Amino acid sequence: MKQISVETHSRFEMIDITAAVQKSVSEEKIESGICLIYTPHTTAAITINENTDPDVPRDILVALDKAIPLNANYRHMEGNSAAHVKSSLVGASELVIIEKGRIVLGTWQSIFFCEFDGPRTRKFFIKSFK
Ligand code: ZN
Repeated sequence: MKQISVETHSRFEMIDITAAVQKSVSEEKIESGICLIYTPHTTAAITINENTDPDVPRDILVALDKAIPLNANYRHMEGNSAAHVKSSLVGASELVIIEKGRIVLGTWQSIFFCEFDGPRTRKFFIKSFK
């Protein structure tokens, strides 16, 4: 398993981690298998979506913020319930196929680390299986 640290810079952010995932798979020399990308945080997430147009991750963050407002009579004392809800909706992990030593993604797809309660120092794990 590989652990990677991420510094996030704002409250909401989507950071493209595709290159880090591919690097890990290449270092492990796995030609064919699957790769799990997992974050152990309760106010962050992992997702796959478009990064060719940077307006797409921006719009995802705007839409999530509209659907799950920061303040909505939540009870959680820490004051970051919206971030917890977004984390559960988007999910803590993604699974991708490895073929010929490369992670298999569509033309427009990237793997993102999603920050919903930044800025913070975060981490995610990469585990590949043959
Ligand atoms: Zn909390």
